[in-house]
Amino acid sequence: MKEKQSVKELQPYVVNPVVCSVKLDANEGNKDLFKDLIKDIGDDFYLNLYPDDNYTQLKEAIVNYIGCKIENISVGNGSSELLDLCVKTFVDTNELILSLDPTFSMYSIYAKIVNSRYIGAGEGNDFIINVDDVIKSIKENDPKLTIICNPNNPTGTIIKRDDVLRIVKSTDNVVIVDEAYMEFSNESVVDEIENYDNLIVVKTMSKAFSMAGIRTGYLIANEELVKTIEKVRPPYNLNSISALLATKALKQKDKMLSYVENLKVEREKIYEKLLDMGVKAYKSGANFVFFSSKVDNLAEKLIDNDVLIRKFGGKLDNYYRVTVGSPKENEAFLNAMKKIV
Ligand code: PMP
Repeated sequence: MKEKQSVKELQPYVVNPVVCSVKLDANEGNKDLFKDLIKDIGDDFYLNLYPDDNYTQLKEAIVNYIGCKIENISVGNGSSELLDLCVKTFVDTNELILSLDPTFSMYSIYAKIVNSRYIGAGEGNDFIINVDDVIKSIKENDPKLTIICNPNNPTGTIIKRDDVLRIVKSTDNVVIVDEAYMEFSNESVVDEIENYDNLIVVKTMSKAFSMAGIRTGYLIANEELVKTIEKVRPPYNLNSISALLATKALKQKDKMLSYVENLKVEREKIYEKLLDMGVKAYKSGANFVFFSSKVDNLAEKLIDNDVLIRKFGGKLDNYYRVTVGSPKENEAFLNAMKKIV
């Protein structure tokens, strides 16, 4: 094999292959929320044509949803592609990427692929991010790129807007705020992109809009940063069916918001019920609840009850993350937990 050294050492991101009828492992949304949109793709849609590489209609829908200018947006094949694109755009071999600890594991994978270094910072009590430590680490290590996941995956903890901005202010280099789950909280800094020339906010259609299958993400930043990222973006990176479906969904913001409101009620229910069972659960600002349990093989026992959740290893051994699903799915999870714990 002739792969480069950094790829030889890479551990792949593991997607759980187990099938359960209650699937609460990947923070996916409601299966019916925008299902109807598939039906009205329409006769004026042509599969032979490449997509509009400016993605103008999608960007106009994002402009209306976010309140920015069209020049502030880049779109991607999931926010995954945009995170990868930003790493490729801003970080060279041996330069440093700083993120939180723990956080979304893909950041360190993107870092490895480009042969950069990676550190996590800000680990606080009960997984609450110690923002002063993050800033201290930025000052000490001068990372070329900082990635802040807010709300944080997998813990669900939230960093207040003002604290995020303190982090952005602490460096002249680029800071990405990954707001994949921000619709479930209220600390977005997306309205600050014109005030900070090093701020990029990354968002996705996969979570609150419940459209992980169409792989659509977007980033918002000042025009100069977007122009730079656009130099690295492959042409036609988002397929035209996804662009169309995302455009239509963004125009139905109220539908998404009502789903989010109901989900938050369910999230608090799961959190409270886990605490009632004596399980150490963590307050979440996302569409999942993080918890720990010493029960042996808990995830496997849940699978035996037809419920799939996410389990972690290494430093997070005995920690789990359950997606907030439909009321029926959440009840199935809680009933199985009651039986097992
Ligand atoms: N960021 C975070 C924090 C995530 O949890 C995920 C998906 N789990 C992503 C980005 C990527 O999402 P997508 O590519 O579906 O937009």
